[in-house]
Amino acid sequence: MKICPTCGATVPQEAKQCPECGSELPVENKEWYKNLTPTEVFLLILGSIMLMIAVVAL
Ligand SMILES: [Zn+2]
Repeated sequence: MKICPTCGATVPQEAKQCPECGSELPVENKEWYKNLTPTEVFLLILGSIMLMIAVVAL
């Protein structure tokens, strides 16, 4: 369940529209990583490796 930002009604998690006021709801993108460009994926992996090195080094 999530809450409509317009009227505050509880709406089903998968609902794209509020059944109470009919306003469009922001859809949570669970597959956000699919929108990443190869450069962003590379930077994300690089960042993870740097973080691991930092953790090990400390
Ligand atoms: Zn609403």
